[in-house]
Amino acid sequence: MFEPKAPDVSSEPIVECPGCQRRHTFNQVLTAQSNQNVIFNCPDCGYERKNIHTSKG
Ligand SMILES: [Zn+2]
Repeated sequence: MFEPKAPDVSSEPIVECPGCQRRHTFNQVLTAQSNQNVIFNCPDCGYERKNIHTSKG
């Protein structure tokens, strides 16, 4: 689902958008809320998903 991919251009974790299959860094598409929810929002295709679970760590 939102498994971090092997980094290609930097050491940042990469996530592939389910909508357009483009890769973005977590910082580009993921927003952590104060209530620990995480929102995925793709700047390319507009794909949005709330309350996702990252497999970080
Ligand atoms: Zn997208």
